[in-house]
Amino acid sequence: MIIDCHGHYTTAPQALEDWRKRQVANLATPELGPKVSELQISDDELRETIESNQLKLMKQRGSDLTIFSPRASFMAHHIGDFNTSATWAAICNELCFRVSELFPEHFIGAAMLPQSPGVDPASCIPELEKCVKDYGFVGLNLNPDPSGGHWTSPPLSDKQWYPIYEKMVEYDIPAMIHVSTSCNCAFHTTGAHYLNADTTAFMQCLTSDLFKDFPTLKFVIPHGGGAVPYHWGRFRGLAQEMKKPLLKDHLLNNIFFDTCVYHQPGIDLLTRVIPVENVLFASEMIGAVRGIDPETGHYYDDTKRYIEAANISAEERHLIYEGNARRVYPRLDAALKAKDK
Ligand SMILES: [Zn+2]
Repeated sequence: MIIDCHGHYTTAPQALEDWRKRQVANLATPELGPKVSELQISDDELRETIESNQLKLMKQRGSDLTIFSPRASFMAHHIGDFNTSATWAAICNELCFRVSELFPEHFIGAAMLPQSPGVDPASCIPELEKCVKDYGFVGLNLNPDPSGGHWTSPPLSDKQWYPIYEKMVEYDIPAMIHVSTSCNCAFHTTGAHYLNADTTAFMQCLTSDLFKDFPTLKFVIPHGGGAVPYHWGRFRGLAQEMKKPLLKDHLLNNIFFDTCVYHQPGIDLLTRVIPVENVLFASEMIGAVRGIDPETGHYYDDTKRYIEAANISAEERHLIYEGNARRVYPRLDAALKAKDK
């Protein structure tokens, strides 16, 4: 079985974006709408957007199940206030839940949180609880920078975040550390801000003792971990100077990397530098990079090809495709076992 731990509903019906535009246009006058009930999307519309996009490509490329969350760049936590984000997150999560109900063999949800800059992250807990208890979601996306590229929040090691971590530990769900759109023109959203955030999140964990407080807390750092695997020597050296334990003991019981790296040399480096037990298969399809690589003739984000060609054993490949995801997402494992998978 091949589990893709990183997929977003980037192909949701146009009505969703139209509703959001109206919400944003009325930030100062929310009484002018739109109401949640004004967004009407039928099951047939959902089916159509999935069958002709993500599911079609999953079947072509040979992956079976995607952990599916709302479109990351659309989270845009910097827009409006907590109520803006709460309404928007509830809508987006419900759509992912409906997709998981329509295609239970192929999609299972991960939650977007209703974060808002300067607002206590504990305010996100009711939405998270609903997603886990009512929707059967198995993970969440945690935005370390809800300001959208201005980094006004304290680091992930700050006690501000602890209420979320306590809930994650209670539910045994991991967080993918995932920023949203950059509203800082110095940072391109998917080319700079995402990778900056991946690297920054790792370093915030490295300099802290977060995982002493939460030994079972689990983070998935997407996009191959940003600059982390490439600069593993720098991180090991910095940890050494700070008198931290070896990174394998300090961070690798808690931090995992996905395989959203869009060329063979990058995957080769990732699987050589990072223990395979810490690497989870993912493609982030359909996402930031949608074209075909003229050097290979294949889609950049067809990451399964790179894993197939990587110099790893069959057992290691199985861990990356399935075994690690079952371990990092225990609720996913339980949901699969309930179906005798
Ligand atoms: Zn993503």
